[in-house]
Amino acid sequence: MKILKSTIFTIIAFGLLFAWLFPQFLWCFFVEYDSFQEIKPNIFVEEKISKMQQDSLLKFVENAEKRIKTFWGGKSGQAKIIFTKNAMTYQKYAKTTEGAGFSIGTPLCSWIILNQDGLNTDVIAHEMCHDELMTKLGWWKTKKEIPTWFDEGLALMLDYRFVSSQDSIQRYIDYRTELSYLSPVPIPLTELNTQKDFFGQGELFTKIAYFTSAVEVSRRISLKGKKEIFSIIKKTEKDGKFEF
Ligand SMILES: [Zn+2]
Repeated sequence: MKILKSTIFTIIAFGLLFAWLFPQFLWCFFVEYDSFQEIKPNIFVEEKISKMQQDSLLKFVENAEKRIKTFWGGKSGQAKIIFTKNAMTYQKYAKTTEGAGFSIGTPLCSWIILNQDGLNTDVIAHEMCHDELMTKLGWWKTKKEIPTWFDEGLALMLDYRFVSSQDSIQRYIDYRTELSYLSPVPIPLTELNTQKDFFGQGELFTKIAYFTSAVEVSRRISLKGKKEIFSIIKKTEKDGKFEF
């Protein structure tokens, strides 16, 4: 009886600690029960979002899915989409005020949280690309092996906000030009492996980090094609080790 009691106590304590440290996971898991409306399976919008915005969101999601299918040859990611109206709600779900969109992945489920600035195909396709990579590789291998620069660089191949060229060589040239406006030298990739490295050193650093990553990924695609990226991912899946 004593053992049972202490086990229950430990489980409750861990549950409370988890909820305190990572409240965003709980909010996402139970989005159905918050003040959201499910306008299509797995697409949730905050209350009082106009019909016009709802229709735009559905259209942008559809376009983003097309982009994912064109790039990846299909779509396996099943992330739920949470569109927020207020900055406070975005922060509650994403645990950040930064950016226009945010992806949360767990071994069980994943979510894409959007704010008003995320109401466009680019941001949604960007976040869906993170989800697609995680779905292909699995949560654990993605967390353990995939450097943030690769994850972000790849997502920028489907996000045309900064460079819109569809030609792989031109895209590489354009990303290099964008990078040169911000910094004469790229950041070494070894300094962009973790989320903390990438996002934790100020706005300008993060911007240079994005362009550095996009230059690397687009260079590889321009030289060897998309298939090279897929074989890197396949190899990581097979050997459990990322090599670029
Ligand atoms: Zn991203």
